Formats: sequence, structure tokens, C-alpha cells
Amino acid sequence: MTSPDGRVLVVNAGSSSVKYQLLQSDSGEVLAKGLIEQIGESSGGKHRHTVAGTDNTRTGEIGDMTTALASMAAAFADFGPDLDAEPPMAVGGGVVHGGTRFSATTRITAATTDAIRDLIPLAPLHNPANLAGIEAALAQFPDVPQFAVFDTAFHSTLPAAAYTYAVPKVWREDYHVRRYGFHGTSHHYVSARVSALMGRADLATIVLHLGNGCSACAVLDGESVETSMGMTPLEGLVMGTRCGDIDPAVPFHLARTEGLDVDQLDTALNKQSGLLGLTGDNDFRTIAERAAAGDREAQAAIDVVVHRLVKYVGAYAAVLGRLDAIAFAGGIGEHNAALRAAVLGRLGILGVEVDAAANEGADAEALLTTPASRVAAFVIPTNEELQIARECLEHLERP
Ligand code: ADP
Repeated sequence: MTSPDGRVLVVNAGSSSVKYQLLQSDSGEVLAKGLIEQIGESSGGKHRHTVAGTDNTRTGEIGDMTTALASMAAAFADFGPDLDAEPPMAVGGGVVHGGTRFSATTRITAATTDAIRDLIPLAPLHNPANLAGIEAALAQFPDVPQFAVFDTAFHSTLPAAAYTYAVPKVWREDYHVRRYGFHGTSHHYVSARVSALMGRADLATIVLHLGNGCSACAVLDGESVETSMGMTPLEGLVMGTRCGDIDPAVPFHLARTEGLDVDQLDTALNKQSGLLGLTGDNDFRTIAERAAAGDREAQAAIDVVVHRLVKYVGAYAAVLGRLDAIAFAGGIGEHNAALRAAVLGRLGILGVEVDAAANEGADAEALLTTPASRVAAFVIPTNEELQIARECLEHLERP
């Protein structure tokens, strides 16, 4: 089946919110988008539906995911585009964890939802909400083909040497303990854009997705070969509130000496660490402003972030065996020129030669390096919704 117009509705359901977009997947045009927040809160929910630059806002209690998606359908009926007259070709839902079971975008069937449910122990915070979104979307659009797009799937090509943790056999074989990696939809989209911009598929690229969550990915000839997030999104780079890499013995030390329990340790490392732990702020913009005003704590945090990034890029260049390109994505990567300059300025050893003016002026897809630079660096605004939409249509056309 070939799409006459390629419209796809992408629904990303979180624990208390839903983001959606109706996209034209060939051009990437966003026909409508919306955000439903504070789902399940008795104080009331908020729903914003945006069409042609106009926000339509509703408030009122939104008890659960089914009510949220009914509110989404009502907003399309009231404010357009009319999905009854022109249903989308597909509905795509992001799912955080696909375990080893899902290595590609998958059509939603009863077996798929059962398998996503079975993966809940690996992603207890994310998969239940993703699944609730899928089930509510199925109820809302029973006649439209639906797909799950997994944030781990792009990393299914990691070689065993990269995904294996050196832990007891029973952990690896029976408890599914290994690196899975996340942000795969973004790393896939960004690395494919680098290929398109460079006009080559045979590239060794490092993608740095730097948002609230941050991860690095080494991509060789279009395939992920190493990535910094692990069994969960806690490992790797310094993030908004997550610590990234630490000695795994730190929690044992604090359990023994301070009596912290598992939930306290989990909360501290996932929600009170990273930029927040280092500075009291988790928003990089605020930290950059503080540093620019001479705040030493903020500058020291940025130094930690930059050091970690430089360390990862160096290691990934060695893993790749060569380096053609580095791409920055995510809110911080796309918007903070000073951070990009600080990282790229330390990569001369790899042959990176920054074009300072290009880096400073970059506000969309942009090349950041000089013609003489051996490695090209780019800003690539990520577009996970478009990647999801395109994967749904590809699957429709070639199941
Ligand atoms: P998420 O990972 O939740 O999708 P984003 O990709 O939007 O989040 O990234 C959020 C981060 O990007 C925050 O630290 C925010 O401060 C930072 N950010 C967003 N806009 C800017 C900007 N103009 N300058 C610097 N940092 C920015």
C-alpha cells in the first residue's frame, strides 16, 4: 500500500502527559500538534491543540490515558484537521524499552502489546505509560494501522563486545542485564541527516543528543555500534538530573555508611544528580547564564559536562576506527554554541577545526567546521516524530 499523502499521527504517551503530532511524512510538515498535561491529577488537566500557529486550549480533569486520547480526538474534530474525513495512514507510538525482543518498528497486535507488557520490569517508569497510550489510541482509531517505535531498536546492532557488561553469567543470561541504549529514534534521525548532508552512507559519525536526558552514539555506516546509556537511561553523560557514569560501588558505600535504601539511592541518582546535583539548577540555560555572570559552581559543572563529552568522543572515535562527523542535537546541543565550542575546541587531536562564526550563528541544521577540518561537525535539530512517522509508513509499504 502506498501512501497517497503520507499523513501519520504520532502519539508519545508519558506517565502524566501525551504529546502528539499529525505529520506529512514526506515533507515533514506538521499539520497539527498537541500537548495534554497533568493527566490523572484531581486539580485538573491542560490540553493545548495547535493548528496553523493557533493554540486552542482546554482545561478540566483528564482522569486517564483513555480520556486524554478522547480529548485529542475531540480537538481534531473541533479545530481540525478532520480525522474522520481523512484518517491518517498510520498511528505511531514511541515505546522506551524494546528489550532484545524488538529490533525494529512493529505493527501493534495483541502479541505486540503483550510483549511490551512483559518488558515492564526493564522500564517500570516508561513502558506502562507508553502501553496505555497505545491501547487508548487503538480504542480511539480502531481502523487505522498502529505501530510501536522503540527507543532501543536502533541500538539492536550493537556488537556483543559493546553491549556486554562484565557481570555474573546468571545476571547476563537470566536477568537480561546488558546495555540496551536509548534515544535511538533521535540517533537514527540525526545520523541519517548527517549522511544526507554529506552525500555518503559510509560514514563514521558520533551523535551527541544533549537534552534533559543526554546520550552519545557511535554510528558506523548507518548502524549504532556503541552508545552511552545502558540497561537504563542512567548511564553515560552528565544529564539534567541523572548522574551518568559513576563507580557502581558508590550506592553500596552510602547504603552501608549512611543507611540509604534502594529507593533513596534511585531517587538521588536519577532525580537529584546531574546538573541539578552540581548546581541546584537542572536547566542548562540557567546554568550557562550563571556561568557567564561569573558563578564558579555553574562553570565547574559545565567543565564536568565538557570533560565527559570529550572523553566519550575520544573513546568513540577509537571504537569507530576513524571519524568523519560529529553531530549535536537536543535542546542543549542545538542551542548552546558555547558548549559546542568548548567540546569541539578540545578535539583538535581528532582533526576538528571549528568555524567559530558558523558555530555561533547556527540556529538550524548547520555545518560548524572549516573546509580544512578533517572531521565535519554539525548541528542537527532532532525530529523524533518525523522519524517515527517515516518508520510507520516504511513498515506499511514493506511489512
Ligand atoms: P528533552 O530531553 O526533555 O526533550 P530538550 O531536548 O528540550 O529536552 O532539552 C532541554 C535542555 O535544553 C534544557 O537543559 C534546556 O535548558 C536546554 N535548552 C533549551 N533551549 C536552550 C537555549 N536556547 N539555550 C541553551 N539551552 C537550551
